[in-house]
Amino acid sequence: MKSVQDYIRTIPDFPHEGIMFRDVTTLFADPRGFRMAIDQMLHPYAGVAIDKVVGLEARGFIMGGAIAHQLSIGFVPIRKKGKLPGKTLSQDYKLEYGEATMEIHDDAIKPGERVLVVDDLLATGGTAEAGIKLLEKLGAEIVSTSFIIDLPELGGRKRLEAMGMDVQALCA
Ligand code: AMP
Repeated sequence: MKSVQDYIRTIPDFPHEGIMFRDVTTLFADPRGFRMAIDQMLHPYAGVAIDKVVGLEARGFIMGGAIAHQLSIGFVPIRKKGKLPGKTLSQDYKLEYGEATMEIHDDAIKPGERVLVVDDLLATGGTAEAGIKLLEKLGAEIVSTSFIIDLPELGGRKRLEAMGMDVQALCA
């Protein structure tokens, strides 16, 4: 039987020379692959109380929506600057080249709500850290962070674990 990893293709030198881009569109496009990925991402949380799933733009929305539906709970997006229409909180973070800003609606999470953070890939952890900081500002309790792919050599897992986060990933 194929594993989740088998459905992901690697495209060299995208978006810059030297980057091995992990393309999960081939996983999402396959009915068995997508279902397997969502089922495996859910597995660690069986019996765990979670109030909301938080997805990081953009691929985190795809798994995050499916996971929230499966858990019958709400979904909250964390988006790049300027996309959310309501009042937002912002968090700057470093990219490989330059800086970016993530935003969340300031009423999206109530203090004490238990949330699961979802994205497709953990590299340096900068994106996830920005999302976690926004959620902490809103008083969320972060139950766990969940990724399809963890690239451990880029240090993201260590960075999130140093913040006290639980980190789950399906493959490296
Ligand atoms: P980072 O903030 O360094 O952990 O990067 C994670 C974010 O950048 C995720 O939202 C990923 O979708 C994207 N990303 C970083 N590196 C890659 C890669 N090699 N392949 C695909 N996406 C990547």
